Amino acid sequence: MEHAVLVLNANYEPINVTNFHRALGLMLTEKASLILNGRGVIHTARAEYPIPSVIRLQQMIHSPHPHVRLTRREILRRDQYTCQYCGRQTSTLTIDHVLPRHMSGAHTWTNVVAACSSCNHRKGGMSLKESGMTLINFPKEPPHSANYIFGHYLPDNQEWSTFLQGW
Ligand SMILES: [Zn+2]
Repeated sequence: MEHAVLVLNANYEPINVTNFHRALGLMLTEKASLILNGRGVIHTARAEYPIPSVIRLQQMIHSPHPHVRLTRREILRRDQYTCQYCGRQTSTLTIDHVLPRHMSGAHTWTNVVAACSSCNHRKGGMSLKESGMTLINFPKEPPHSANYIFGHYLPDNQEWSTFLQGW
């Protein structure tokens, strides 16, 4: 029962993704209301509850606009699962620090790229200049749009699409 549930702020801005149990808890305590079901109901001994797809908070929460978290999965997604040195799409992509960590290279969006293991090995502990290698795209932080941030949920949750537009 691992349904992802999109959480909208009171102004309909998408702010989070939660699981079914937390979403149901928010609804039962009237902190959130059901916006979209489309997934049927779950039966317990005493009652039946909708399986929400999208819920909306009753009270506006002042949370900062969500950013894409700097994780391996998100770096690979930003770089379209493509080695940023040779352009190959392989299943063995690694994360390369463009300016290596031992040269004080930061673990930030602008210093990490997807690299295949052979390019990563070839570059070794060298800076970009020392290695003589070039980058296909200069790394930058991905967009903050809701469409991008929650985009990896879309294949399994097509119905969210209209709620993500424009944020
Ligand atoms: Zn490569």
